[in-house]
Amino acid sequence: MLPEFRNEPFTDFSIEANAAAMRTALAKVKDELGRTYPLLIGGKYIELEETFDSVNPSNPAEVIGSFANGTVEHSNQAVEAADSAFASWRTVPGDERARYLFRAAAAMRRRKFEFCAWLVYEVSKSWAEADADVAEAIDFMEYYGQQMLKLSGPQPVVDYPGEENEMRYIPLGAGVVIPPWNFPLAIMVGMTTAAIVAGNTVVLKPASPSPAIAAQFVRLMIEESALPDGVLNFVTGPGGSMGDALVDNPKTRFIAFTGSKEIGIRIFGRAAQVHPGQRWLKRTVLEMGGKDSIIVDETADLDAAADAIVASAFGFQGQKCSACSRAIIVESVYESVLKKTVERTKKIVQGDPTDAKNQFGAVVDVKAFNKIKEYIEIGKTEGRLMTGGEATDPEKGYFIAPTIFADIDPLGRLSQEEIFGPVLAFIKAKDWHDALEMANNTEFGLTGAVFSRSRERLEEARHEFHVGNLYFNRKCTGALVGVQPFGGFNMSGTDSKAGGPDYLLLFTQAKSITDRF
Ligand code: NAP
Repeated sequence: MLPEFRNEPFTDFSIEANAAAMRTALAKVKDELGRTYPLLIGGKYIELEETFDSVNPSNPAEVIGSFANGTVEHSNQAVEAADSAFASWRTVPGDERARYLFRAAAAMRRRKFEFCAWLVYEVSKSWAEADADVAEAIDFMEYYGQQMLKLSGPQPVVDYPGEENEMRYIPLGAGVVIPPWNFPLAIMVGMTTAAIVAGNTVVLKPASPSPAIAAQFVRLMIEESALPDGVLNFVTGPGGSMGDALVDNPKTRFIAFTGSKEIGIRIFGRAAQVHPGQRWLKRTVLEMGGKDSIIVDETADLDAAADAIVASAFGFQGQKCSACSRAIIVESVYESVLKKTVERTKKIVQGDPTDAKNQFGAVVDVKAFNKIKEYIEIGKTEGRLMTGGEATDPEKGYFIAPTIFADIDPLGRLSQEEIFGPVLAFIKAKDWHDALEMANNTEFGLTGAVFSRSRERLEEARHEFHVGNLYFNRKCTGALVGVQPFGGFNMSGTDSKAGGPDYLLLFTQAKSITDRF
């Protein structure tokens, strides 16, 4: 019997033994930086002469690893390999497939600090943010493994005289998994292992800023969990050309993607095209961007609200799809919440997160750095700069200070467009209803929070605040696997609810069988 699913506890780094273990892991991983990584197709490692580098955002001169620069041809070879491996993997019983995940979860738990260290170096996560990412990855494997046990075998159907009827979930085929760089472990592991445990085979193409973390996970699945050849294939290279080829391939049965609205829409359109030789309509699971709001009304605990706004807006430098990028505050408490939020934000310590005192690292790459700086300039024309706005010399690290603009128009660019960085817009609402209306005025619908002591208003928000993940009197980030299944509405995606009881069904198809006696 397996233990009941429980979320992986977070590490308390104020305990010296944990801090020491983290320092040891950082030193160990530092020694491993700069290696060259091949593709993995059908169980064979393929080294390429042409490579690209993943670099440390806090110190771009430091190369995390060099990665094979794959081509369209490699994409197609990987889909072929996944398609061949599907023939046998689909026959492996669900409970057996689940054990590969339980084994991988246990192995990752044993090497938790090491995985945290990779996240610190490759995407500039603070220790706490890295730990949460690793914990979520472990949770996904444990949770989906257990969900598979429930889905394995016949499902209950209504009894019919003279017949034996059953319905069972069978896998789809060879699929493509395309994760983002912002939860480069958790989201990548979640999408990949959900597909695999449901009986599918996968081509994983990690985001180009974070392939080293994905490579560590692939190694763990192959070496420690002993996944058969071809079940998990790993290709790195340009997202545009390789991504299009993976999506277009007629043998691709499904695409699981998390990333921007623009790429999600592109995949949605391309996947709808039926190519010669294709025998199915492709399934797409597309999780996209957000423009998430925290509403604070005049009855709220304003200190708790300010704490939550700061944590939600600036955790991992604001680079979360769930990040609070809009604080919508009722007029009578607007200046007070703004002041408290600015005071707290000014205390955030920014710097290279290999040093535990730095809670706030760099943004992921020069592209993000330039885009965020452009939005800061737009912010200066749209509102009042209250704090932040500064950036370092990008050659020394992609550091941008946590930035707050006040008095942003609810229809302004800072209020409507996803910036994906540490830029927070304060928006003044006349009253509660005005605030609720503003919270629903974007094309997205991912997360949101309300701070209020009014039961009536919270109940109204429960029905009317149109987001996939809604929180009352707490921050709008930090969803836990199994506790708050995660996914958004409208242009935030297909609401596929990662870490929820329905998620694995997205990677299956149901077969109904009748035996008449
Ligand atoms: P992105 O630029 O859309 O990239 C996502 C992935 O798509 C990367 O692996 C990228 O590869 C790949 N890609 C690029 N062009 C492609 C194409 N033509 N076909 C197929 N794949 C292609 O997003 P990102 O910057 O990595 O991530 C940030 C975004 O993710 C934000 O919008 C954020 O809100 C969203 N996000 C959403 C959720 C959610 O659950 N809703 C969670 C986390 C993040 P390359 O890196 O090689 O280009």
